Amino acid sequence: MSVSEEPETLSNILKKGEVPADQPIQNDDGSLNLANQQALVHCGRCSSYFMACACEMDGHGIDSVITGAPDPRVDAKPIELLRRWASLMVLIPTLYQFDSKAYVEEDGPALSKALEESGSKVVEMTEAYIKMNHPVTDQIAKMFESWKLPLSEAPKQAVHDELRASTRAFIKGDFACVTKIGRVMINNAFQMCDQSKYSMNDLKLQVMFVVLNVLDQVMSIEFTAPYQFLSMEAYRSESVIAKQFWDKYTSEET
Ligand SMILES: [Zn+2]
Repeated sequence: MSVSEEPETLSNILKKGEVPADQPIQNDDGSLNLANQQALVHCGRCSSYFMACACEMDGHGIDSVITGAPDPRVDAKPIELLRRWASLMVLIPTLYQFDSKAYVEEDGPALSKALEESGSKVVEMTEAYIKMNHPVTDQIAKMFESWKLPLSEAPKQAVHDELRASTRAFIKGDFACVTKIGRVMINNAFQMCDQSKYSMNDLKLQVMFVVLNVLDQVMSIEFTAPYQFLSMEAYRSESVIAKQFWDKYTSEET
């Protein structure tokens, strides 16, 4: 686990004259103490500190990402990562209306159990979906091409890798690293799966399917095209595209 980004990010913030009141703190239960930590919010388009960004946005806080929170524990349980996500949600202005902390408090334990015990089924479903070569994946590959993303691999392969990275993050409860595009494809994988093998009468599958729809509703406006391959904590994402994009922009002086 790399922890070198944190002081670097903070020093960048300090260079820009924005001094956070306190360092962000990670609690033992995985949640974050982020009171007055708006300094962690950055523009996902240009990587500038959120308040210093000059991008033309359609709304306050759209396409925002968060950098500089302490890394989660390597072997963090889903419930810990869900609490982290809930803590981060509070920082994104477009998502203020959703009480993420109350949601995780209430539904988190059952969801965490479902992810731990049946997450492997979601991996199977998404692998079957990849094999199916569904037209939606072709459409997304075309979108990737039209967005002129810095792809290091064939667009179709990038789509599959995106789905796999988002699936790994999803079943860990690491929702801050699930991209919108990944979420759409996981949702499709649920809908297209072999119902005789993965019955929706399976309560754990139901719980995971429900949360996908909750995420879709509350986070639908979070990222606009062509930034839908970013996630809330894009720098931690295993998504090749999110990482390439983020590394490219953060390595350049903006
Ligand atoms: Zn910007």
